[in-house]
Amino acid sequence: MRRHENDSLIIGRFQPFHKGHLEVIRKISKASANLTIGIGSAQYSHTINNPFTAGERYRMISDSLKEAEITNAYIVPMEDLNRYSVWVSHVVSMSPPFSVVYSNNTLTRRLFYEAGYEIKDSPLYNRPEYSGTEVRRRMLADEDWKILVPKAVADVIDDIDGIGRIKGLKDDI
Ligand code: ATP
Ligand code: MG
Repeated sequence: MRRHENDSLIIGRFQPFHKGHLEVIRKISKASANLTIGIGSAQYSHTINNPFTAGERYRMISDSLKEAEITNAYIVPMEDLNRYSVWVSHVVSMSPPFSVVYSNNTLTRRLFYEAGYEIKDSPLYNRPEYSGTEVRRRMLADEDWKILVPKAVADVIDDIDGIGRIKGLKDDI
């Protein structure tokens, strides 16, 4: 049996971190001794689909966890690696120990399964609204995006003029 059998991993891009992410993390954190939240595609920022830096996303998640009183989660930025055969090793090298992976992504599930990890389904909450794509769409359309994210995330985005940034990026297209 693997050590750290109650420690788990979830990965997202969190562009931005929204209430669906927070709900699933709240649930997983209760079922886990420790939880690692991997910030995927960490190297990307300042594009229309990846507007926020790894550091900005780190702040969004860290402040949201504090607000929600979730204390057993580690946050780890993880750059993409365009070589799937070594991607699991890359993630493992960046992360505190874990043996359970929560994911709905077919490739992620397959790669960790082949490496001997336990795979669990990651429940989706109010997916039509709680989606990064929908939050970014509303930001550009001047619709209410703040209702879809934890207050801590709205505060970070206001602080960095995230709306100004994403609108400026759109003008470049
Ligand atoms: P985007 O539309 O930018 O792809 P996203 O909402 O799909 O954003 P990601 O940053 O791609 O979020 O992160 C994906 C991870 O977040 C997956 O593990 C997925 O299961 C989880 N997730 C995304 N939306 C929800 C939700 N509404 N409820 C629960 N988990 C969610
Ligand atoms: Mg997604």
